[in-house]
Amino acid sequence: MKGKIKYFFVLALAVLVFVSILPVFNVSKPLFADSTSDVNAFVTRFYQQCLDRQPDADGLAGWVNALQSHSISGATVANGFINSTEFVNKNLSNDAYLQVMYRAFFDREPDPQGYSNWMGLLNAGNSRQYVLAGFVNSTEFRNFCAKFGIDSGSLNGGSGAKVSNSTVASTSSSTVASTGGVVPIFAFHSVMPDSGYEYEISTGQLNELCSLLKQRGYQTISFQDLFAAVNGGKALPPKPVILTSDDGYQSVYQYAFPIVQSYGFKMTLFITTGLIGSSDGDRRTNLFDAGSYPTRAMLIWPEVAAMAAAGFEIQGHGTDHSRLGSMSYDQALAQLQASQAAIQGSVGGVCNVVAWPFDSFSAASVSALTAAHYGAGVAYSGGALNTGAINWGAIPRIPVQASTSIGSLASYLP
Ligand SMILES: [Zn+2]
Repeated sequence: MKGKIKYFFVLALAVLVFVSILPVFNVSKPLFADSTSDVNAFVTRFYQQCLDRQPDADGLAGWVNALQSHSISGATVANGFINSTEFVNKNLSNDAYLQVMYRAFFDREPDPQGYSNWMGLLNAGNSRQYVLAGFVNSTEFRNFCAKFGIDSGSLNGGSGAKVSNSTVASTSSSTVASTGGVVPIFAFHSVMPDSGYEYEISTGQLNELCSLLKQRGYQTISFQDLFAAVNGGKALPPKPVILTSDDGYQSVYQYAFPIVQSYGFKMTLFITTGLIGSSDGDRRTNLFDAGSYPTRAMLIWPEVAAMAAAGFEIQGHGTDHSRLGSMSYDQALAQLQASQAAIQGSVGGVCNVVAWPFDSFSAASVSALTAAHYGAGVAYSGGALNTGAINWGAIPRIPVQASTSIGSLASYLP
């Protein structure tokens, strides 16, 4: 008898340990039969929190059956309620909206830090769809769904499809009037007095581009300005343009910084945080390019800070320039979060945009953007951005390389 009790104790302990590690492996299918009453409770909470009412029998049965047969996920339910006419027509304040999100999605009150983080993102012009995807893609929602034996699924808040056409159309006509909603975003890497390499431009080329933009009446904006315009209706200058430089080369501080400033312009720098040293004695090189690009010195944090202080926008390019598109969701998320923490911890500001290293991204890496509180991923090419149809996972840019003529750059300017 004693032996049997011991046996059951060990068995129970083994089950407990196994269940407790389930979330780590992100098991999406339940191992045990899900009970109808549990799934009922999951759906009923959405009716009560989002719609302030008890479920109607048909509606409830529809959701529960679909969840139990795994033909839909928790994400589908969340998206269905939050984007339902009944909920949208309640026209909640951001505060009330966030309270509903915490109660419906996590069955708890907001924690002060999480609440103020989301409120800050909403006030900065991020859409509610962006917040919704953040909740749905969180580990807490995944674990919450697992408790009810249902698939959590995921949502993409970084996709242009999630920005309603009417919002974007009215934005592009009213806030970017004279360019018809087009924002050219130029992309280059290092800038040297004499460039001898295709992916490196000369100071002469940069001067030529800035001079062209100045003559045509363009004004530089940041990605934060773009978010605020598209999501919040903030006005942009009549002719907005974004200048970007990838990787974080020292030459950007030495040569591009003074040139860009001399035209009254600003720039967005996508830096590879693991290659940014703390001081001149800790200066690193472009290891990721070994064999395909000349060895170049990278920026150090005091230089990054000096440019940030001058109003340049500092954004992410991963920690070690690996291909995020080849990684798992969790690995991509870790890169996004670590580079964001390094930038925000070292120079302050908000890091919520990544230029995909090697232009490599995937459905998994794009969906990790939302969980990491990023507003956009940026591609290397694709032409000028049309704000009437933004793909937030891969915002297009216009590459500027050694062989790129000023005439071809001018052809992108509306
Ligand atoms: Zn790069």
